[in-house]
Amino acid sequence: MDFAYTADDLAFREELRAWLDEHLPKFLAEWGAEEDSGAEGGEGAGRRGIARTQARRREWQRRLHEGRWAAINWPASWGGREATPTQNLIYSEEMARVRAPGIFNANGIWQIGPMIIRWGTPEQQERWLPGILDADEHWCQGFTEPEAGSDLANLRTTAVRDGDAYVVNGQKIWITTAHLARWGLFLLRTDPTAIERGAKHEGITAFVVDMETPGIECRPIKDIVGDEMFDEVFFTERACPPTADSAARARAGRWPWARSATSGSAPPGSPSPWLPTSRRWSRPPGR
Ligand SMILES: Cc1cc2nc3c(=O)[nH]c(=O)nc-3n(C[C@H](O)[C@H](O)[C@H](O)COP(=O)(O)OP(=O)(O)OC[C@H]3O[C@@H](n4cnc5c(N)ncnc54)[C@H](O)[C@@H]3O)c2cc1C
Repeated sequence: MDFAYTADDLAFREELRAWLDEHLPKFLAEWGAEEDSGAEGGEGAGRRGIARTQARRREWQRRLHEGRWAAINWPASWGGREATPTQNLIYSEEMARVRAPGIFNANGIWQIGPMIIRWGTPEQQERWLPGILDADEHWCQGFTEPEAGSDLANLRTTAVRDGDAYVVNGQKIWITTAHLARWGLFLLRTDPTAIERGAKHEGITAFVVDMETPGIECRPIKDIVGDEMFDEVFFTERACPPTADSAARARAGRWPWARSATSGSAPPGSPSPWLPTSRRWSRPPGR
């Protein structure tokens, strides 16, 4: 492989530098040079710090999007630049050089959006991609469980079909900003027999979860500086009504797809495994 920069690469760097030179100082003057944290202490400081950080990141992402610098890997038709690997490297170098602010929807821009582009139906793309791009809707990614970290295929949170709905049971952990997210991409086990059959890579399905569904409980985990950026997310059977009038559509999840989520690139091949979930599993009164 020839590692020399092409003319396109050099032009990419020059254009990005010019954009940052023009827009970053103004942004920093308005929003401050650093992100806030919960280090001020006191009850709720972690949540306040994260809320301010997210507001700042939302605004920065919007400005990047206006300049077509938010989602460089997305197709041009979706506001991207179809950047090459070298251009990704240049992007990282330039952003690090100016210590650019974080963005609001890192999971959405870098992982979930590209997966929706690759695997989603046109309706799903229209529904979700604009909100990811312009920072209207925050997304979290729900993969890790207490017994399924590096060994992701060991995940045990179940989603069992019940009519048109799914009854979801289990726990996720370390889910970044789940309590702030409007939507979440969750990997759930739709074949609960797979692990005991010795086929744990099978029977896992990707769900787009409406995080405003009553019955999803997010418990923030406070970190060493007092921030509350990560959550445990609980789904409990008690929270699921017996029915069944959702629009959920079943399709087998595919493990190669899940691998694409963790690597940030989509594998070639199969059709969309996306399942929009019902808002029908609800928290009983008083919980
Ligand atoms: C900043 C941050 C943000 C995160 N955000 C999210 C999120 O938004 N959504 C989400 O789903 N998860 C998230 N995670 C969780 C993260 O993806 C998990 O921590 C990761 O999957 C590893 O799982 P674990 O922590 O249980 O470690 P473990 O799987 O217990 O691994 C612990 C150590 O053992 C090593 N190890 C494990 N198995 C083997 C093996 N077979 N052979 C050799 N070594 C091994 C690992 O490399 C590691 O060093 C986040 C984590 C961090 C740090």
